[in-house]
Amino acid sequence: MRVLVLGAGFGGLELTTLLSDELGDDADIVLIDKADGFVFGFSKLDVMFGRTTPQAVRHPYRDLVKPGVRFVQTTIRSIDPVQRRVETEAGAFDADVMVVALGADLDPSATPGLAEAGHEFYTVDGAFAARDVLDSFDGGRVVIGVTSTPFKCPPAPSETALMLHDYLVARGLRGASEISLVMPLGAPIPPSPAASQALLAEFAERGISWHPDRLVRSLDPRRRVAILADGEEMPFDLFLGVPVHLVPAVVAQSGMCVDGWIPVNPLTLETACPDVYAVGDVTSVGTPKAGVFSERQASVVAGQLIARHGQSGGAPPYDGKGICYIEFGHDRVARVEVTFRSGEPPNGQFDEPSALLLADKAEFGTSRVQRWFGRDWASY
Ligand SMILES: Cc1cc2nc3c(=O)[nH]c(=O)nc-3n(C[C@H](O)[C@H](O)[C@H](O)COP(=O)(O)OP(=O)(O)OC[C@H]3O[C@@H](n4cnc5c(N)ncnc54)[C@H](O)[C@@H]3O)c2cc1C
Repeated sequence: MRVLVLGAGFGGLELTTLLSDELGDDADIVLIDKADGFVFGFSKLDVMFGRTTPQAVRHPYRDLVKPGVRFVQTTIRSIDPVQRRVETEAGAFDADVMVVALGADLDPSATPGLAEAGHEFYTVDGAFAARDVLDSFDGGRVVIGVTSTPFKCPPAPSETALMLHDYLVARGLRGASEISLVMPLGAPIPPSPAASQALLAEFAERGISWHPDRLVRSLDPRRRVAILADGEEMPFDLFLGVPVHLVPAVVAQSGMCVDGWIPVNPLTLETACPDVYAVGDVTSVGTPKAGVFSERQASVVAGQLIARHGQSGGAPPYDGKGICYIEFGHDRVARVEVTFRSGEPPNGQFDEPSALLLADKAEFGTSRVQRWFGRDWASY
């Protein structure tokens, strides 16, 4: 069984690791990504706030040496889901099974004024550049704003506000600054009222102003105001934005999307095309867009492919579970365990912020690097 895995992010790395661990040299997997390395989403915030360096958080794909897996660094130009074939800058590839794990792209240009007057911090380049922007900031009104839904890692803007508070305190600039957070959600973490209440209490304690159920539509570079969807204006000295999310153009052109994302069977992650699966941010499976969900979806697909390879019975269906770590500032991390099952309201179990959970989060990252790349992440 030849398997073609498109995208070496959370989903693609987990899938190829599980298949290689189980099948060894019997696996015949081609893993394609245009990037030269993987960066965790949370590492973007760590670099932005000066906790670590860009070099320390990039995990090069050249370290990815696994039995039965061939990594090809190239850009995918077109996808034919019926033939299970892709055209890339390095030639064509086809397979018996194809898994699309190409994530969500970000389009800062879709928000008028964002590129000229603000800074997005969701791409790797944007987050790393925001570090210099913050270093040269000498206080004033900061607006952290989301520009569309859905967006990756719904807790990340709240984490950004709390980490920014700590950062400005450390630089002696908090007294001269205001922090406002504009979010399209009614609560910071809607499936967990306890997590939301804890975050709102931390915002209140630190004087962070919270603007729920709102979206930033554009920035006026001349007047330096953010214009919200309802027409309200918010003046800023520094705007940190979450840009518009969409599937990569090559996925949009493949004809696999409905309403902007790839629909899948919520139990098996199968698409409408036989032997083509999709996992993670690129889908509309019904979970938030976060790496932990992509990873678990990948394990469900791996289970089916391994069962099929061994001609054995079925594999467990997708259960919609994920554990999210949330930075609360002051060197504490909280944890929410959430379950999203189709037809049921999502529910979450919240663990209060603590230094102990900070260590858990570090273990989450280092264990992935160990499993996916076979090496220690010493500098974490
Ligand atoms: C600031 C921030 C903080 C975050 N914190 C967390 C967190 O704490 N926990 C968590 O679980 N999630 C977090 N996330 C979200 C997480 O990063 C994503 O949801 C996750 O990476 C999605 O995994 P994926 O496998 O679906 O896609 P991705 O990891 O995005 O992988 C997609 C891959 O496809 C490749 N690709 C795309 N187009 C092409 C093409 N045409 N040709 C070749 N390759 C292509 C890309 O290079 C990429 O490597 C955070 C995100 C951000 C922005």
